[in-house]
Amino acid sequence: MTKLPRAILFDLDDTLIRAYAQPEEAWTRLLKVFAAHLDAHEPAAIERVRAAVMEEARAFWSDPLAAAKWRLDIPGARRHSVRRGLAKLGRSDDALADRIADAFTELRRQEYRLYPDAHATVDALRDAGVRLALVTNGASETQRAKIERFELAHRFHHIQIEGEFGQGKPELAVYRHALERLAVDPGEAWMVGDNYEWEVVAPQALGMCGIWYDPFGAGIPANATAQPTRIIKRLAELVE
Ligand SMILES: [Mg+2]
Repeated sequence: MTKLPRAILFDLDDTLIRAYAQPEEAWTRLLKVFAAHLDAHEPAAIERVRAAVMEEARAFWSDPLAAAKWRLDIPGARRHSVRRGLAKLGRSDDALADRIADAFTELRRQEYRLYPDAHATVDALRDAGVRLALVTNGASETQRAKIERFELAHRFHHIQIEGEFGQGKPELAVYRHALERLAVDPGEAWMVGDNYEWEVVAPQALGMCGIWYDPFGAGIPANATAQPTRIIKRLAELVE
């Protein structure tokens, strides 16, 4: 087994559970359901709607201030993106946009999946004496529902949710608070997760090791300013 640290902070979404990764395929599938409402009967027409909606979503989420606010209301953010996407295509229809956005939220929720090695890896780390925290951005209700559904609560010594703590990653206070609760120094801890900024750059600025979880082999972003301490494609690599 790799030499383990005294503590590990885990991200939740798209690290322990598969939640929002690879949205293209999910959007295409969902928009096909609404093909008649969108008057989009050809694959190319569906593709135009998907591209418009996703482009609006990208623009929306790339504004850090807006993102920090809307992370706490992802269904609301989706409504916003779909409304704007349809409007851009000259098909403004807020009621239809909201139905599509809400259906996407429900589709995603139904398809959340625990990564197959998540429980075993976390339990092995805990058994090995590693102090564990779950540190996740998002609203309390949404994140608590996932934690309960996937039986995660009892596996961690500390659970910290943005909507409850009042601050989210990459604010350094978030990591500092979790480390304090685990009673460890930054140099004794790893942060593990799929978001480069939140789980590599910010934790490393604090002196932690940033372990980047890259299950789809996306590779390090071209504009990366920090190198991850380690890259893993499967969670189980942490205990091998
Ligand atoms: Mg994540």
